[in-house]
This record gives sequence, C-alpha cells and structure tokens, in this order.
Amino acid sequence: MEYLQLMRIIVHVDMDAFYAAVEERLNPALRDLPVVVGADPKEGKGRGVVTTANYRARKFGIRSALPISRAWRFAETARGRGEPATVFIQPNMPLYREVSGRIMQIVQRYADAFEEASIDEAYLDVSSLEHFAAARQRMMRLKGEICDLEGLGCSVGIAPNKLIAKIASDRQKPDGLTVIEPEQVADFLSPLPLRVIPGIGPKSEHFLHERNLRTVEDLRQVPESALVEWFGKWGNRLFEKVRGIDDSEVSNEWTRKSLGEQETFAEDTGNQALVTERLDRMAERIIAKLKAKEFKGFRTVTVTVRFSDFQTTNRSRSLKDGIRIDDDALRRLQEAALSLILPFFDARENPRAKAFRLIGLRAEKLF
Ligand SMILES: [Mg+2]
Repeated sequence: MEYLQLMRIIVHVDMDAFYAAVEERLNPALRDLPVVVGADPKEGKGRGVVTTANYRARKFGIRSALPISRAWRFAETARGRGEPATVFIQPNMPLYREVSGRIMQIVQRYADAFEEASIDEAYLDVSSLEHFAAARQRMMRLKGEICDLEGLGCSVGIAPNKLIAKIASDRQKPDGLTVIEPEQVADFLSPLPLRVIPGIGPKSEHFLHERNLRTVEDLRQVPESALVEWFGKWGNRLFEKVRGIDDSEVSNEWTRKSLGEQETFAEDTGNQALVTERLDRMAERIIAKLKAKEFKGFRTVTVTVRFSDFQTTNRSRSLKDGIRIDDDALRRLQEAALSLILPFFDARENPRAKAFRLIGLRAEKLF
C-alpha cells in the first residue's frame, strides 16, 4: 500500500501556572492572592529561583527562573503600594506529579497519539479528525473536563505540527485556545520575536539582535548558507523552523509506533548514488536502535522526500507479515527503502526533476 500523507493536526496542551494552580486548588484561601512556588526567599536572602508564579504575582514582574531574592523584593515593593502580601511556597513535587498523572490520563483519551512532554505539557496527534474545526471542538471538551475534574486551567495550541502548536499554546495564556491552520502558519510566525523559536536562547538572540534581526520574518530573509555558517548543522533546522516546518512526530517511548531518521543535505542534491547511500546508513541505524530497544519487527516502511521547494512527500510500503528483526532485517529494510525512493528520481514522483533537500526513512507499526 502506498499513500500520500494526509494533513496532520497536532495539539499542544500546557497547564497554566501549574504548580501555583495546584497549590491554589489545595488551599482555596490562596485564590486571588499572588502566589510564588520556588526556593525559600528567606526575607530576601534566599538563594535559588522561582519555579512558578501565578498570574497575580506575574503582574509584579515575578516569573519562572527569576532569582527568589529578586522575587521577594518585587513582592515587597508591590506590598508597599498596598497590594496583598505574596505567598511563597516551597514546591511539593509528589503532589504535582500525582495531579499531573491524573491529567495525562484524561488528555491521552482525546488523541490518536499522545506524548507527555513534561510534567505539565503534552502533545496530541488528532489527525484522524481531519478538520481543524473538529479539533477545536474536541479540545474545548478536553479543557472542560480538566477544569471539572481537577479544577485547573490550561492553554491549547492546535496546528499542523508540534513546533507551531507549542508556539500557539503560549499566545493566549491563561485559558487560551489558539488554532493555526496550515495556510496561516507563515503570517502567524512573521511578527513574533525570535525567542519563540525553540533552540533560540538568550545567547543566539543576542547574536541575532546584533545583526539587526528581531522577528521571525527578519530571520526568514537570511540565506540558509549564513545560518549554517553561524549555527552549524542546526542552521538547516532553523531555516525550516522559521518557515514553520517540523516533521517530528508525537510519540512516547512507551507508546512508540514508529522509529525513523532523517537528514537534510548540506546542499540540495539530485545525486541518486549519494541519496541511496544515505538511506542505507539510516537503515543501519534504525535496525540498531530497534534491536537496542528490543522490538521484534515492523510492518511498514516509509520514505520521506522534501524537495528544494519544500514540497514534502511520503511513500510507504506495508509488508505482509512485516520484517522481523533478524539477520536479514537490514537487507530487507534497505531493499524496501530503495524501491520507495526510486520513483523520486524519475517522472513518476518527480516530473520536474527537482533536487532533494531532505530524505527520511521510518520503520512503522512496530511490534
Ligand atoms: Mg505550563
């Protein structure tokens, strides 16, 4: 069976001020008060940082990773203006993990595939819904259920991939729901500051600001060769990220349904020998990983090609009885990969003879 990949619908769910919200839930007297979960402030002499501040405390400029001594001073300044005293609480991780576990149980029932990204964040693949409007309806129900059962709020991003879903969930906090459909991705990203791109931290941001690059749109104007010169191999990924491209799948190690590799060429290529050689190496690494993770085999092989114009196509082959991880598995995977890639070198899949930007190989339906 061969097919073109359908549009993906990916969701990022992020709990709002999670630790602080759990504390408020436990102790309703905290509601409407500024709450900071983190290190002991010791009247301003404490060391360590803020873990989470609720939205009331954020109005004082207190946020995650701020030194707790500065948070204390901000809180005191606010109190001097007549604001209520900020409540400082040391983290109760066992409690947060317990609440997180219950929330993740709820969240995964709403998805085809589910990935716990951290204690208060998860990705969902809901592609089988086929329409973004249906995904929005389902996520409204999810937000309602989390609120009813746990009394907690969350913000949700719905988008064609994990990258955009994560950026989207952060746009309308708290209690947000942001939907970015495929044709809206470029405009959505353009005006945003560079820091929204995962991997751009304070150092890279500073470096780019010095070059007068401030928004995603600015960075999109930079040639790929310059990004690679500045950031090495990650420059290729950055070039794609600012265009909203991300193929990473929603999967947990323990619910893993597929395992794959992909590679972006240093320069776009139409060289068949080079491409097949790279596919062979990917097959070796995939088989090694499947062995290491003690999978018995897989039933489907998928090859991904991204052309120089970013058009991305998958071709898959399902094998009767699958390929078992034995001495012959590598040869059979390489054979399947070759048969899937060949049409991309002729008119069948590539009538305009476009060069390849990226190739990927994936073993799916693992068992
Ligand atoms: Mg959060």
